[in-house]
Amino acid sequence: AKSLGRGKVQFFNDTMRQKLKGAALLESDIQSGMNKHEFALFYQPIFTIQTGEIIGFEALVRWHHPERGFISPADFIPLAEETGQILALDLHILELAAKQLRLWHGTLPKDFKVTVNVSSKHFSTLEFADFIQRLYFEYKLPLGSLCIEITESGLIENLSLATEIIEKLKTCGVKLCLDDFGTGYSALGYLHQLPIHILKIDKSFIDNLNCGENHPLVDAILTLASALEFDVVAEGIETQTQLDVLKQTKCQYGQGFLVAKPMPAKQAFTFLTTGKLS
Ligand code: C2E
Ligand code: CA
Ligand code: CA
Ligand code: CA
Repeated sequence: AKSLGRGKVQFFNDTMRQKLKGAALLESDIQSGMNKHEFALFYQPIFTIQTGEIIGFEALVRWHHPERGFISPADFIPLAEETGQILALDLHILELAAKQLRLWHGTLPKDFKVTVNVSSKHFSTLEFADFIQRLYFEYKLPLGSLCIEITESGLIENLSLATEIIEKLKTCGVKLCLDDFGTGYSALGYLHQLPIHILKIDKSFIDNLNCGENHPLVDAILTLASALEFDVVAEGIETQTQLDVLKQTKCQYGQGFLVAKPMPAKQAFTFLTTGKLS
């Protein structure tokens, strides 16, 4: 038991050292990556379930690291959350999205939205709303063209401040989407208090829509959303069966590899205007 114990300690030490080494490199790299424009946004279409019409894009960050190559957000967003750099990185990414919206100015369908993921850490200071207002002004964005996605966890901690911030964002027509809904800790009691507009049903629920069976959880989320007058986006639709099942429900919007993967801006725009992958 003693040697096993020691082996265990050894194992943790090695992993921790490796993790720290990686972290140290990436941490300084995130800042230089922003300076050197190594972050780019890919865009994934969000469509109307019943008609297939594309009504927006979700912006998803990609990092082209000079030495490490392509790094997935799943590998650096959690690190950035840990170090607090997520605050600067999110603002950098929001600015990339605003720039792109400006480039697309006048060519997008009416009420088209680009939705950007941000950490709920921003909802503990009013600066975030000021920043968004500045973006709208500086890039002359149409009202409502930018949408914000957050996961629920951080919002409940300071409900009144979060509400104040969201109300401030509303002056730019910014809509708020609660991401990954149904995973993690859901305090249903606060849902109706938050000025939120959209719920995104997590992919794990959509994965289970593959057979002719009942889907009580998805039904329950849709009923809840409709009672609170939220729109609903189903994420991670991969099969025709999943889409067919959703067509029988009141779920308004969808997103997933079945229709399109996240793509560079140019390709996403081609897909939007021609319906074809280039
Ligand atoms: P998320 O916000 O839940 O984003 C959805 C993820 O699912 C994306 O992965 C997307 O590429 C992927 N996805 C979309 N449709 C399908 C599908 O049909 N099947 C499968 N298997 N996957 C699908 P991605 O781009 O790797 O992003 C992972 C996570 O990293 C995101 O999860 C989000 O939490 C975070 N993230 C990505 N971009 C940003 C960003 O710009 N800022 C912040 N703060 N977080 C970001
Ligand atoms: Ca998201
Ligand atoms: Ca999600
Ligand atoms: Ca998810």
